[in-house]
Amino acid sequence: MSRAFDIVVIGSGAAGIAAAVSSARAGRATLLLDKNPAPGGTGGLSGLTTLCGLYDEAGNFLNDGFTREFANALTERQPPAQLEPEAIPSKHAGPETGAPIKMGRVWVRPYRPEKFREAAAHLLSSTPNLQPHWQAPLANVSVANDRIVSVNGFNVGAVIDCSGSAEVAQAGGAECLETDETTQATAVIFPLHHVTPEIHTPAEAVKLLLPLARAGFPPINFQANLEPNSLTAKFTGQPAQVPALIEFLRTNIRGFENCSTPLKEFSVARRAGRMIVGEYVLTGADVLGGRKFHDAVARGAWPIEQWNAAGQARLRYLPLGAHYEIPARSLRAAKIENLFMAGKTISADANAIGSARVMGCCLATGAAAGVLAAKYLDSQK
Ligand SMILES: Cc1cc2nc3c(=O)[nH]c(=O)nc-3n(C[C@H](O)[C@H](O)[C@H](O)COP(=O)(O)OP(=O)(O)OC[C@H]3O[C@@H](n4cnc5c(N)ncnc54)[C@H](O)[C@@H]3O)c2cc1C
Repeated sequence: MSRAFDIVVIGSGAAGIAAAVSSARAGRATLLLDKNPAPGGTGGLSGLTTLCGLYDEAGNFLNDGFTREFANALTERQPPAQLEPEAIPSKHAGPETGAPIKMGRVWVRPYRPEKFREAAAHLLSSTPNLQPHWQAPLANVSVANDRIVSVNGFNVGAVIDCSGSAEVAQAGGAECLETDETTQATAVIFPLHHVTPEIHTPAEAVKLLLPLARAGFPPINFQANLEPNSLTAKFTGQPAQVPALIEFLRTNIRGFENCSTPLKEFSVARRAGRMIVGEYVLTGADVLGGRKFHDAVARGAWPIEQWNAAGQARLRYLPLGAHYEIPARSLRAAKIENLFMAGKTISADANAIGSARVMGCCLATGAAAGVLAAKYLDSQK
């Protein structure tokens, strides 16, 4: 096995899949490392079922290229031929056709996590120049003269940190910013099947779930996941509490008598953590002001989401019809010249990352980081 790669990507969530495929398609020998046994990251492995951040106000794609390709790869059945994807009426919407659905002011793309994993595995295995290594945690990063020279013993030309928690930057000594869990609270995400509650208003949901709070369980949110009689649960407690929580729902809550989850293990999902300081730090004001940049490489329009420990969200929207841009400088580390970043670790402040962390944006920054790292190597010839 070669001990040298042009580009090493750490992490195979939405950002890492996009970064690795894009750098390999740019002709660069690419190594993808993930500590997990398979690709998917949070989008494929946590039980999430809505891809956010793909669309503008009108339901049109904000970013083309790999972002659109990956979203289309989640489609399981073609919509009627005479309809443009963006014009599909809601009766055709759903995980199978790939049509977006509107939730309040924003459009989301429903998907099945199995299909996310399958699409990721197919794209990674069918792309030439790309070698994934599974169960390969980041173990060692060597830096000399402000450049990363090797990762896990492999010599490298450039590195893209898509770990979701800036693992490469931490190991390589790059400067990082942090969010905190008071505004980006963690949650345990899992699907619940065979659920038939009759909830029409938020007040009804609160009333129905009151016994949970009285029994001392931490708050839980439910989101429709478009599979029949199923919900996606976002639980603010600990993974070890989930089996008891499900048992309590089955025994005490109307409509949940037969509920179950296919997951055997539960883990805490982090909304945000560490961002790497880049040549430019994207700010909350840039996001809410729909700021444009001369070196823009991706677009976003998702509201800034902040979640507190009680599972309550505060959403701050851009003006109607607006989008913001993410500059190339926010994907390039300030202090280590061959370190790039994408997804949850881009150079953004605690407000901006509340928008840019959604998967549509992660795909777009991942694809852009792959191209930027390849161009950087071209410039070194
Ligand atoms: C509770 C919750 C709800 C959310 N809801 C939505 C939603 O409905 N829609 C939406 O679009 N987004 C949602 N998000 C946000 C979104 O899921 C994530 O921000 C996004 O998936 C991050 O993608 P990523 O590729 O940057 O990182 P991740 O998906 O976290 O991928 C990181 C990858 O890096 C690997 N890795 C980490 N450390 C190492 C290491 N040391 N060595 C090797 N590999 C490593 C991991 O195994 C993983 O595969 C939610 C997030 C949370 C926590």
